[in-house]
Amino acid sequence: MHRVESYVAGAWHRPPSDGRALRDAATGDAVAELSPAGFELKGVVEHGRAVGGPALRELTFHQRATILRNVGKMLLTDEAKEQLYDLSYCTGATRADSWIDIEGGAGVLMSYASKARRELPNATVAVDGATEALSRDDSFSAVHILTARKGVEVQINAFNFPVWGMLEKLAPAFIAGVPSIVKPASVTAYLAEAAVRLIVESGLMPEGSVQLVCASPDELGGLLACLGGQDSIAFTGSAATAAALRNHPAVTERATRLNVEADSLNAAVLAPAAAPGTAEFDLFCAEVVKEMTSKAGQKCTAIRRTLVPEQHLGAAAEALAAALAEVVVGDPRDRATGMGSLVGLAQRDEVAASVAALREVAVPVVDSCDLSSVDSVIGAFMAPTLLQATDPRSETVHTTEAFGPVSTLVPYGGLDEAVELVAAGGGSLVASLYGADRDEVAVLATGVASHHGRVLIMDETMAAASTGHGSPLPPLVHGGPGRAGGGQEMGGMRGVFAHMQRTAVQGSPDMLTAVTGEYIGGSSIASHKGHPFKLTFDDLEVGDSITTGSRAVTRADIAAFAESTGDKFYAHMDEEAAARSPIFNGLVAHGYLVLSFAAGLFVWPDEGPVLANYGIDRLRFAKPTYPGDEIHVVLTCKRKTQLDGRGYGEVAWDTRVVNQHGEVNAAYDVLTMVANAPGVNGAPGR
Ligand code: NAP
Repeated sequence: MHRVESYVAGAWHRPPSDGRALRDAATGDAVAELSPAGFELKGVVEHGRAVGGPALRELTFHQRATILRNVGKMLLTDEAKEQLYDLSYCTGATRADSWIDIEGGAGVLMSYASKARRELPNATVAVDGATEALSRDDSFSAVHILTARKGVEVQINAFNFPVWGMLEKLAPAFIAGVPSIVKPASVTAYLAEAAVRLIVESGLMPEGSVQLVCASPDELGGLLACLGGQDSIAFTGSAATAAALRNHPAVTERATRLNVEADSLNAAVLAPAAAPGTAEFDLFCAEVVKEMTSKAGQKCTAIRRTLVPEQHLGAAAEALAAALAEVVVGDPRDRATGMGSLVGLAQRDEVAASVAALREVAVPVVDSCDLSSVDSVIGAFMAPTLLQATDPRSETVHTTEAFGPVSTLVPYGGLDEAVELVAAGGGSLVASLYGADRDEVAVLATGVASHHGRVLIMDETMAAASTGHGSPLPPLVHGGPGRAGGGQEMGGMRGVFAHMQRTAVQGSPDMLTAVTGEYIGGSSIASHKGHPFKLTFDDLEVGDSITTGSRAVTRADIAAFAESTGDKFYAHMDEEAAARSPIFNGLVAHGYLVLSFAAGLFVWPDEGPVLANYGIDRLRFAKPTYPGDEIHVVLTCKRKTQLDGRGYGEVAWDTRVVNQHGEVNAAYDVLTMVANAPGVNGAPGR
C-alpha cells in the first residue's frame, strides 16, 4: 500500500515505520498508510530559509506570477487533474465537490498570477502609497516600501479542501517571495501529497519554495520551535487547535505571525419582504440546500444557521424539506449522486454528537434519506439534517458547529433581532442576505458586517452571475472576526502584503529613487537626453525628463473648449458667478483643457516607441488655471514595467503642469506603452 511521503530539502521521504490506514470514506477500502514522518523537522525550516527564500526573492513579482500561472495551467491539464479527481473520490467528495478543491485551487493560482502582473511592478520591492513630503524644499521625503520577510510560512491545513486549502495560502506567499511548508490534515494527506508531487515533478517552482511535511501534530513541535519573527503560521482548523497555537512560544515570545481560520457558524437571512412566491425566497431555499449538501456540508463557509422571519417559517421549512428530499445521497463516483459521504466515520461520529446537542434545543424538519444504494455502516454517509430551533436565542444553536450536512432554522421577529441573532454566532466567515427591498437589506448588511469577513446580498438581478454564499474568491477577503479566528486570507494583494514587511524609508529623493527604482519627486537624477518619447523602453531610464516650452491659456481658448465639448459649467462661462465661488477668483480654465494643452506640449508627434496612452493615475488639479496664465510641463519617466514577451512595457510618467509663477496647476502620472528596442523581448527585429 502507498505510504504517504513528505517532500523536504529537495527529496521525497518515505516514513520508516508502518502506520495507520487511511480509508476510502465511501467504501472503507484502505487508500494509503500514514506514519509519523520520522525525521528532524528543524532542517525543513532551514532549507526553506536558506534555499527557497533566496531563490524566490531573486525573482521579480512578475516572474513569480508567471511561475504560478504555469503551475495552475499544469494542474488543469487532464492528466494532472484526473489523478487528483481519482483520489478525491476517496475523501467522499463528488466530482462537483472536487471541482471546488482541484480546479478552484488551480484557479486561485491563475487569479493571483494575473492580479500580481496587473497590480505589482516587475520588481522585487513594492511601493505602498504616495511619497510623503517631509520638508518644504523637497529635500527630505519618505516612502513606504514592502519587502518579502526572510522566513517561511508554515501552513497547517484542515482536511476538507486538501488542494484548494493549500494553494490559496501558497499563492499569496509565493508572490510575496516567501517559501511555504505545508502540513496537510492527516485524513486526506494523500491528496495533498499528490498535488505537491505534481508541482515538484513539473520543476516549475524554485527548489525550497514549497515543502510538504506529512507529520503527526506531536512531531510539529520540532518545526514550530524553529520559528521566529520573520516566519508565519497559517492555520485552518478547529478553535481548540487554534488556541494551542496562540499559546505557543513561537507566537507568544518570538512574534511569529499567526493567521487563524477556525470554525464559523455562518448564517443566511431571508429578509421580511422576500415572502414565499418571490424570486428571492426561491434563491434563499436553493442556496441553503446547496450549502448543506455541497461537500456534504464540510465547508467552513456552509450555512449553519438559516434565519427566517417568523411569518415565513412554515413556508420556508416546507420548501426546504421538499428540496432536500430530492437530493440523492450515495456513491461519490456516481455522476447521479448529489451528495457524497463525510470524510470518515470519526467525522460522522463528531457530527452526530453535534446534532445530538442541537436536538436538545431544536426539532428535526428533515433527518433521513434513502441510503439503500450504499453501505452506510462502512461508508460515512449521513442524511441532510435540517433542524428548527425551539428557542431562537438558545446558545447551543449559535455555538455548535456541526461540520456536516446540517443547518438549523432560526425564526426572528424584526430586522434588529435578525442582526442580533446573526451576531450571536460570535463572528463568522460569511453571511448571505436574500431580499429585494433595499432598505431592509441595507439595515441587515450594515448590521451584520462587523461580525463577518464577507457579506453576500442575493436578489433576482444578480442571481445568474452570483458565485454563491460558499465560495471564497481570490480578490476578496476570506476570514472572519471572533469565533472565525480573526484571520484574513487572500483578498487580492492584501494577502500578498500580509507576507511582507512595510517599512517607512526616509531620506533624500535621490536615495529614495535608488531604493525604490521609481522616480521620487525632487530627485536630481532627472536626466535630459532629448525628448524621452523618442527612446525605446530599453534605452529609457527612470529619471529621463523633459521640460517643455510654455503656452498661454486665453479666454478664447476657454470659450472654444466649452463650445466644442459642451462643458459650459458656470465657472468657465460667467466671470461674475465664478468670482462668487469660494474656490475661484474669477473665470477659470477647464481642468481637461489644461490636460489637453499639456499633452499638446509634451507629446512627440511622430511614429516612435511610444505606442499608446492607456490612462492617467493620481490626477489632482492643485491650483486653478486662469486666463492669461502661461503653462509648461515637466514630464519625467517615473516607473518602467517590462511585460514579458510582448515587445513593449508600461511606462508611468510623473507629469506636472506648472504656471509662470512656478506653481503646480496639475500633477498626475501619464501611463503609456513603450516599444522595446528591435528584437528585444519579442519586439519585431529591424
Ligand atoms: P483540527 O483538528 O484543528 O485540525 C486542523 C489541522 O491542525 C490538521 O492539519 C491537524 O493535523 C492539525 N493539528 C491538530 N492538532 C494540532 C496541534 N496540537 N498542533 C498543530 N497542529 C495540529 O481541525 P479539524 O477538526 O480537522 O477541521 C475542522 C475544523 O476546521 C472545523 O471546525 C472547521 O470550521 C474548520 N475549518 C475552517 C476553515 C476556514 O477557512 N475558516 C476551513 C476549513 C475548516 P492532523 O490532521 O494530523 O490531526
